[in-house]
Amino acid sequence: MKTFSKGGVHPAENKIAANAPIEVMPIPKKAFIPVGQHLGAPAKPVVQKGDTVKVGTLLAKGESFISAHIHSSVSGKIEKIDHWMDTSGYKRQMIIVGVEGDEWEESIDRTPEIVREITLSKPEIIARIKESGIVGLGGATFPTHVKLMIPDGKKCDVLLINGVECEPYLTSDHRVMLERGEEMLIGVSILMKALDTNKAMVGIENNKPDAIAHLTSLAAEFSGITIHPLQIKYPQGAEKQLIKALINREVPSGKLPIEVGAVVNNSGTALAVYEAVQKNKPLFERVVTVTGKSLAKPANLLTRIGTPIGELLEKAGGLPENSGKIISGGPMMGKALTQTDIPVSKGTSGILVLPEEDSTRPETLTCIRCAKCVQACPMGLMPYHIALLAAHQKWEETEKSHVMDCIECGSCQFVCPSARPLLDYMRVGKQTVGLIIRNRGKK
Ligand code: SF4
Ligand code: SF4
Repeated sequence: MKTFSKGGVHPAENKIAANAPIEVMPIPKKAFIPVGQHLGAPAKPVVQKGDTVKVGTLLAKGESFISAHIHSSVSGKIEKIDHWMDTSGYKRQMIIVGVEGDEWEESIDRTPEIVREITLSKPEIIARIKESGIVGLGGATFPTHVKLMIPDGKKCDVLLINGVECEPYLTSDHRVMLERGEEMLIGVSILMKALDTNKAMVGIENNKPDAIAHLTSLAAEFSGITIHPLQIKYPQGAEKQLIKALINREVPSGKLPIEVGAVVNNSGTALAVYEAVQKNKPLFERVVTVTGKSLAKPANLLTRIGTPIGELLEKAGGLPENSGKIISGGPMMGKALTQTDIPVSKGTSGILVLPEEDSTRPETLTCIRCAKCVQACPMGLMPYHIALLAAHQKWEETEKSHVMDCIECGSCQFVCPSARPLLDYMRVGKQTVGLIIRNRGKK
């Protein structure tokens, strides 16, 4: 069975919410909708305090090349436009809506019928995806319409769909593939049309045999789409690793997948594309896994964007007393949250609660040069060396050691017997070197 070749690790899977069907999360009383929920420039508000909005009303416009529109997830009145903490831990601009009822924009098709025929042309599909504010739902939140605009001279010969969900604990993509499989595959066909390709491959790790079987039987009705079981190995859901696993091509350092003729999209994104193109529904809700060994009711919740995370925890049985850490995302790449009034955004794939005993980091010891981090790194880097350079703020050498190739997967830190905070150093190194490179470009 296929997988990527370099590095990788096998953390405990802990997919404890895998058998919990998607439930609809109650609408919040107040929605906190960030204007920057995506990679790139934040969107600019087009509403004001006191305005009345419906579900699906445009709240903020993404005007830069890399940006995305933001829509209301609720109906009601704009209470204020203010700064509020988001999952990054920083206060950012948000549009706060006091909820009244649940009135949707009339343009959204709310009927349960699945619309199979794709009538929009390629440019119309890309325009609709842009209008609907679709971004990558796997966590990277890159605006999808930008991914579909292939640069001159390049050609996408295969669309790869990421159904890997290799982060431990997370199960939202798994449930989408099982429960919304047909709509997701129509979404894949729409993406194929937008990319002018007749081939799509869906990669799913072998710990989801039900999703593999279900999509394999559905895919028989779809031209050009094939389903590919993959060996279980973290971080197979990363773009470059998925490309290597599925089509055995290597994306060169600093380049995008299109360099090797591929475009990668997440399975949840394919569903969002279906809803945007076939149902005229902007992206204002997503499935969020709320999980943890001590939670009473781990769940997969279809949640309106802007719902405070504390409300999802309540729905999952409340925050247990022994909780030590709340994480947005999974244990490998997720970010610890300091408070529970932070809202769900487009990139929130999961909320993980870790008990106290799993929340403290072991004491950091001296590096023993065992090279385990080097063996684990899927990008072929030398994490111990780069971390040391970053710690000493030797940015020129940090850059030369290819810090920008780091995909922040945390595999190095996971295997380190000395519990060195390698990922933290890699992130600091990437941020600083990234800034130096951008400033250099401005000169
Ligand atoms: S976090 Fe970066 S350095 Fe560490 S294993 Fe992943 S890619 Fe390599
Ligand atoms: S795994 Fe840890 S101890 Fe081993 S070389 Fe890497 S940083 Fe040093």
